[in-house]
Amino acid sequence: MNIHEYQAKQLLKSYGCPVSNGRVVLKAEEAKTAAGELDGPLWVVKAQIHAGGRGKGHFKEPEAGPKGGVRLAKSVEEAAELARQMLGRTLITHQTGPAGKQVNRVYIEEGSDIARELYLALLIDRKTSRVSFVVSTEGGMDIEEVAAHTPEKILSFSVDPATGLSDFHGRRVAFALGLQGGQVKQCVALIRNLYKAFIEKDMEMLEINPLIVTPEGNIKVLDAKLGFDNNALYRHPDIQDLRDTTEEDPKELEASRFDLNYIALDGEIGCMVNGAGLAMATMDIIKLYGSNPANFLDVGGGATREKVTEAFKIITSDPNVKGILVNIFGGIMRCDIIAEGIIAAVKEVGLKVPLVVRLEGTNVALGKEIIANSGLNVIAADDLGDAAQKIVKAVKG
Ligand code: GDP
Ligand code: MG
Repeated sequence: MNIHEYQAKQLLKSYGCPVSNGRVVLKAEEAKTAAGELDGPLWVVKAQIHAGGRGKGHFKEPEAGPKGGVRLAKSVEEAAELARQMLGRTLITHQTGPAGKQVNRVYIEEGSDIARELYLALLIDRKTSRVSFVVSTEGGMDIEEVAAHTPEKILSFSVDPATGLSDFHGRRVAFALGLQGGQVKQCVALIRNLYKAFIEKDMEMLEINPLIVTPEGNIKVLDAKLGFDNNALYRHPDIQDLRDTTEEDPKELEASRFDLNYIALDGEIGCMVNGAGLAMATMDIIKLYGSNPANFLDVGGGATREKVTEAFKIITSDPNVKGILVNIFGGIMRCDIIAEGIIAAVKEVGLKVPLVVRLEGTNVALGKEIIANSGLNVIAADDLGDAAQKIVKAVKG
């Protein structure tokens, strides 16, 4: 789960990290009061969407907004005007995709003077199974660009979970970032606080880009992006409260309500599979035969008829879906339950695209019989390869 920048900064502030004062604004009428509560002479107005690259982004035509989703203002009135202009507009950045994201919240912050922009991230490195620091002196830019062109400017090291974090890690970060004098001490404290927040809140990612050095020589968190481990959210009601469902894919949201593991992708073949491994294999084989999956969907081992119906509805609600492949290996899951679920769903939402069903395992004969007797236009398949070829052929013609 991701949260907004202003929420991330509030959380980091509660851990003692240096951030600027700011106010979040949801309605244009509130902008002037909010900006007036902050000290000048500089204000920053920042579109709050769950995507980076806002500064270099642009608002969708025809109602052109300000130049970019992060703008500086020299007066309260100007800040309020920028906030007004951003609210309700669609911001397109290299992370939002061409559709962009609607700006429903704007953050107004006391502006900072910047001497240096640095990059600092904590993430879970799956290779070493450890929390890793990623640091670079090239902050404020797209880190993927830095990684592609000057990888030597990115340094990374991990924390041994047995010994945990010590001030040595903070000094190592400070050294890598070229910090000096009192900044080293500030950096050591910051690293301690960030690491504590990361572990206590079960984060997956914590990215500060940029971390700045002010002309006075102080360090400050100027942008913050936090991601949390969904599997640990149950023990963080305070974090759950920060969830903004308007930022999430509506299909994924619906799926999570029914405890389905669904991830929207951009291909054309909708998949309904039981088991994550089989779902991955199904996506691979669709690609092998020349098409692309529209989603990953694992209905799980103990799916009910209702769950299968919901899964089917979510798949068919995707306008990109040109065909559906149901691939079920009945172990705990019985094939007849799947068959009944499919029929119930088709009766409810209709079937406008080809459907290939491959059933195997527990009660397979009964499952196939139910589908055959349903009168539905279902293409039966014998094995995984056969199923993939049939659906790709049905879609591509
Ligand atoms: P992003 O584009 O979504 O990553 O948004 P950021 O919060 O990182 O802002 C983008 C850029 O705007 C930063 O890299 C800074 O150069 C600039 N910026 C943001 N806040 C301030 C500020 O308080 N003062 C100044 N001078 N520039 C800022
Ligand atoms: Mg940034």
